[in-house]
Amino acid sequence: MKHYELAVEFYKKQGPRHDSALWAIREKRDKAIKEVKEWEKLRTKAGEIKDYVIENLQKLVYEFIKNAKNEGIEVYFAKDANKHNEIVLKELKNINAKKVVKSKSMLTEECGLNEFLEKNGINVIDTDLGERIVQLRGEKPSHIVLPAIHTTKEDVAEILGESNTDPTYLTRKMRKLLRKEFLSADAGISGANFLIAEKGYAVVCTNEGNADLGAILPNLHIISVGIEKLVPSMEDLGLFLRVLARSATGQAITTYSTIFGKKEGGRRVIILVDNGRFERLNTQFKETLKCIRCSACLTTCPVFRRSGGHSYRYVIPGPIGSLLAPLVDKDEYKDLPFACTLCDSCEMVCPVKIPFSKQLREMRKYVTNENIMVKFAEKSMHSDKMFKLFSKIIRLTPKALLEKVISEWSRYKAMPVIPRERFIK
Ligand code: SF4
Repeated sequence: MKHYELAVEFYKKQGPRHDSALWAIREKRDKAIKEVKEWEKLRTKAGEIKDYVIENLQKLVYEFIKNAKNEGIEVYFAKDANKHNEIVLKELKNINAKKVVKSKSMLTEECGLNEFLEKNGINVIDTDLGERIVQLRGEKPSHIVLPAIHTTKEDVAEILGESNTDPTYLTRKMRKLLRKEFLSADAGISGANFLIAEKGYAVVCTNEGNADLGAILPNLHIISVGIEKLVPSMEDLGLFLRVLARSATGQAITTYSTIFGKKEGGRRVIILVDNGRFERLNTQFKETLKCIRCSACLTTCPVFRRSGGHSYRYVIPGPIGSLLAPLVDKDEYKDLPFACTLCDSCEMVCPVKIPFSKQLREMRKYVTNENIMVKFAEKSMHSDKMFKLFSKIIRLTPKALLEKVISEWSRYKAMPVIPRERFIK
């Protein structure tokens, strides 16, 4: 099913609940940024640092690897998702691991790590509250920061076999259950929000402290992270921590922001994952590599709020997902750049200033074969002769054929009746 059908189904089921829940977070974000007078300057600076990162990605990857090794961390580079999964499995097999605790990581979702490890006999326990809820429901996260935002407290009570639907009660019950898993796990896996090139450190931000428990309690801690998470220095980190938390949830700072260097009394391994990122540097979509996965563009998007994350069918939904998914599979996800009203709300909130309206228009051209038609129309606007010729072609072309040529457009909009005669003789 395509986005439109799934969105209609979702809205019929949810009504305005999902929309209101996310809008409350958007309002919290607005309040939080009003307290920072220099907010726009911070966004500009964050965008500039990320521009520098994508222009110097290879150099920063080498710098990070050198410094992380000096720090005492083992570093791998994985060209793609398969390689990444094999490295994780090899590390876990080396210690005969049977169970791992994993904190939220969109990169491991991108690589399909849970399914891969389960197939290879390793029990994966997601430890972020929202992630654990969707895991127990046999679903994927529907939002990159609020993975279970599509569920209700009644849904959570049901998976825990409880009649009490009080959120505090349910959270405490889940915490108790997860505590046992942390204490008996053989290894911990986490993502990372930032990698500090000048130090070789990884930075992980959570509100539940679950990544810290997974990183500290078992002897082995594996960090799986995309190379675009690099920032040059510790000084840059301060700026990014400020913009990340406010953009994500309207908090001044995430509850736990931990800088991981060498692991005391165990091993820490970092897997830097490419999976198409270096290739993207040579495309018109390289600016998507600036994303810090704060989720502000999802939360603000009027389409996302009404259609839910699963309607996008890709691990990263919403406006940024509509740019990333077609780069993974152009045919499968070609409807996503059109699941957008071009209202620009995403561009207004993005803390690293990704130019969404430009990128989404580019992506529409990229996924359709209407380029020639659109280019011809554009050219005709600049010349009277061309305009007359173009209008004549349109008037003489049968409607069915026109609809076929601009099939993507006419799938969602009714083609008007084209007059056979010119208005001006
Ligand atoms: S594109 Fe911008 S707003 Fe969206 S998740 Fe990434 S950083 Fe946040």
